[in-house]
Amino acid sequence: MEKLENSSCRTSDSAGYDRVWAQIDMDAVLFNMESMRANIREDVKIVAVLKTNGYGHGAVAIMKEMEKLPYVWGYAAATFEEAKELRENGAKKPILLLGYVFPYCYRELARLEIRPSCFREDMLKELSAAAKEEGKAIRIHIALDTGMGRIGIRPDDEGLSFVRKAMNTPGLIVEGMFTHFAKADEEDHGPTHAQIALYTGFRDRIREELGLEIPLCHCSNSAGIIEFPEANMNLVRAGITLYGLWPSSEVSRTIVPLRPVMTLYSRIVYIKEAGPGVSVSYGGTYTTSAEKTRIATIPVGYGDGYPRSLSGKGYVLICGKKALILGRVCMDQMMVDVTDIPDAREGSLVTLIGKDAGESITMEQLGDLSGRFNYELACNINRRVPRIVCGGTLG
Ligand SMILES: *Cc1c(COP(=O)(O)O)cnc(C)c1O
Repeated sequence: MEKLENSSCRTSDSAGYDRVWAQIDMDAVLFNMESMRANIREDVKIVAVLKTNGYGHGAVAIMKEMEKLPYVWGYAAATFEEAKELRENGAKKPILLLGYVFPYCYRELARLEIRPSCFREDMLKELSAAAKEEGKAIRIHIALDTGMGRIGIRPDDEGLSFVRKAMNTPGLIVEGMFTHFAKADEEDHGPTHAQIALYTGFRDRIREELGLEIPLCHCSNSAGIIEFPEANMNLVRAGITLYGLWPSSEVSRTIVPLRPVMTLYSRIVYIKEAGPGVSVSYGGTYTTSAEKTRIATIPVGYGDGYPRSLSGKGYVLICGKKALILGRVCMDQMMVDVTDIPDAREGSLVTLIGKDAGESITMEQLGDLSGRFNYELACNINRRVPRIVCGGTLG
C-alpha cells in the first residue's frame, strides 16, 4: 500500500508519442481498488467493469493487473467483442456481459466461458441450443429491473416464472442475478433503498418458491460501493471509481479515497505572435485585440475525443499556468493563448487533463466546462490516443 501512495509515474514518459498521449497510472488503479476493498465486507468480491475500453483507459492493461488480485471476481463488458478481447489477451477470470447480446455470438460465448445477462425467453432457448452444440454449459446472470426501466425482468410473478424457466433450461446454469441502481449517486438515498428492497424480496421469493439459492447476487455500482454498504451482497461492480473518477458530485469524497488514473498530455507544436484584429480558427469566433498575442498550436482536437464544446471556454496547463483555448477546437488541432506564459516554447509540455505545478484540470471540471459528463469524456478519448502505462506491478 505504501508504494501505492506515491506513484512512480513521470510526465516525461511519452515513449515518443509526443502529439498526444494518455498516461495511465496503474499505481492509482491499484490504490483505487484497495480503497474500495477497504470499504466492502471481506467476503465480497469486486467485478472490474472494463466496458468501452475501460472507460477509455485501456481495458487489457488493467485486466492484466486485476488477474492477480484475489478479491477481483472477474470483469464486466458491454459487448461480446469487448469480452472476447479480454479473453484473447489472457483474462482467466469470469467475464460478464451487462447488456443484451445477439445470437450470432452464443456459441463462442459458450466456448470462451463468457457469462451473458439473461432476461428474454428467446435468449434462454437460443443459448441452450448453443450450449448443446458446443457441449458446454453456459453460466448466466439474470438481469432484474428494480428501477432503471432498462433491460431486465421485473420482480413479479412473470419474473419468477422466467427464473423457473431459466433454471429448467438444459445447458444453462443460473450463476447470478443482478440489478442496477438508477440513483445511487444522488443525495436522497430513498430510491436506492427501495431498489435494494425489491431485489432482496425477489431473491427471497426465488429461494422460497423455487428452492434456488442464487450463488452470486449483485447490485452495487461505484456509487453503491461508496454509499450503500448494505447493498454489498456477493459481488459489487466497480466502474468509474476504478479509474479514480467520481460517480457524481453528490457522493462522499472521503469514504473511498480515489486517485485519477488518466493524465492527458501533448506538446506545443507552433507559436506565433499576432497583433490586434487577427481571427483564430474556423468561423473566426475569436479575434485578437491586444497589441501582442502569443498563440500556441496544440496538435489535439475533437478527432481525439477532446470536446469541441470547449471551444473558447476550455483551457490547458503549460508551465504550471492556465492557457485559454482561442476560438474553435478543430478535428486535430487547437490554439491556446500563451501571452502570459513567457516560458512556453515549441515543444513545451501541455497538460490537457491532470496536474501541472499548482494547477490542475480534472475530468470532472472538463466535463462541467464542456457540458458533458465525466464518464462520457473519458470514454470519448479514443484509440487515436496512445495509452502509456506507468506504475503497477507488471513493469
Ligand atoms: C456500467 C455499469 C456499471 C458500472 O457503473 P459505475 O457507475 O461506473 O460504477 C455497473 N453495472 C452495470 C449494469 C453497468 O451497466
